Amino acid sequence: MPKIIHQQKKCIGCGTCAAVCPKFFEMSEKDGLAVLKNSKKAGKDFELEIDKVGCIKEAAEMCPMKIIKIL
Ligand code: SF4
Repeated sequence: MPKIIHQQKKCIGCGTCAAVCPKFFEMSEKDGLAVLKNSKKAGKDFELEIDKVGCIKEAAEMCPMKIIKIL
């Protein structure tokens, strides 16, 4: 199963991931940073295991900080 890593600490809150992949990303109303939905904290990052990568691929490609990793 693919694992998604979101290095949220480096997020600049541009909103691209939530725009291209709202199924998996939303912007936090608290700090304005992207949230990988249903992910769990793993050290400094957030992780999510999923069946199909889907639009996360586009989000990872378009993220200006390159902080969305697909393993
Ligand atoms: S595209 Fe990258 S930098 Fe922009 S909000 Fe999403 S995770 Fe943060």
